[in-house]
Amino acid sequence: MSDAFDLTDDLGPEKVLYLHDPATRLRAILVIDNVAAGPAIGGTRMAPDVSLEECARLARSMTLKNASAGLPHGGAKAVIFADPRMPTADKERLVRAYGYAIREITDYIPGPDMGTDEIAMAWVHDMTGRAVGLPRELGGIPLDEIGATGFGLAAAIEEAQTHGGFRLAGARIAIQGFGAVGRHAARYLAERGAVLVAVSDSGGTLVRPEGLDVQALIDWKREGHAVAEFRDGQARDREAIIDVECEVWIPAARPDVLHEGNVDRLRARVVAEGANIPATEEAERRLAERGVLVLPDFIVNAGGVICAAVEHANGSQGVALARIEEKVCHNLGEVLGRAKAEGQLPRAAAVEMSRERVCTAMRFRRPW
Ligand code: NAD
Repeated sequence: MSDAFDLTDDLGPEKVLYLHDPATRLRAILVIDNVAAGPAIGGTRMAPDVSLEECARLARSMTLKNASAGLPHGGAKAVIFADPRMPTADKERLVRAYGYAIREITDYIPGPDMGTDEIAMAWVHDMTGRAVGLPRELGGIPLDEIGATGFGLAAAIEEAQTHGGFRLAGARIAIQGFGAVGRHAARYLAERGAVLVAVSDSGGTLVRPEGLDVQALIDWKREGHAVAEFRDGQARDREAIIDVECEVWIPAARPDVLHEGNVDRLRARVVAEGANIPATEEAERRLAERGVLVLPDFIVNAGGVICAAVEHANGSQGVALARIEEKVCHNLGEVLGRAKAEGQLPRAAAVEMSRERVCTAMRFRRPW
């Protein structure tokens, strides 16, 4: 495990906490990266193979994401070393022990992440009085049910039309991953006139150049089937999604899926990053050289955290959706404008913009 001080720079992290409770066998790490803009919002991830380094990288990306979205929140992340598929009673005990351990760390507002959900957030809230991504009964806005991130992604793609040289009406869309982000992006893009020509999940790819029935496919997936077994379209292997000719290609599954070894196969005008860090630096550079416009992840997939911030401020679902559209489109416009003016990659422009906002917020804090 790396030393926490190896991870520090001019922005943070401000606090790194190791949490250990022998009675419940809780082992967790909380990294509060930066709180200049306000108490930090970030997910609590549960997995057996998490690490300090992963936690610190994710905490930093929350600082940049929250700053780019203009939220009154800094960035943090927590990881719990455990298998999330354990029996519910054991999971509740562990999550409550975690809640107890962070009860006085009031500058961290936990949210759901891999391995935790709205029920886990209800337990944390019960122990600490703080958490976002709560069940509706506790005033939550269920962000994956309403598709907050997919909604923001669709709005961002519409905003990118002029920069990417395509028209959304009739644009062909291919989506890798058909979970909370992918299926809602498909639904909101279809409403805006786009045509879903290919989709994949961990079981394979489904291709239909004439267009797929998005709602029927969502229902099919909800019944527990793989997309490649759907009645219409041709089934292909999982990697075939990369070769599909389209205007907009959306990664909405895993990190680093586009890399040096496969990026030149991509035949799209725009890559809209729904997943976090779905392309390596080299892949993004090669795409830019070929004139493919990349919409950076932490700008266009901020819908979920914007929704969480609205929930935290007691706002409604309607307010959340309006805020997502306004913030994501405005920020993407600024990032693409800067990138063009400075001859930068969109990601470099996005990082620069977010860092500037964090540094400005830091100047408003007392100097000790
Ligand atoms: P999810 O678990 O609901 O869905 C993931 C989907 O990806 C599933 O359909 C799964 O079958 C598929 N998948 C997994 N491995 C695959 C592979 N190798 N090839 C093709 N498909 C594969 O997850 P989600 O909430 O939709 O999140 C997807 C990504 O978006 C993650 O990187 C997540 O961190 C990121 N993200 C999610 C949100 C959110 O609001 N849920 C917000 C920002 C970023």
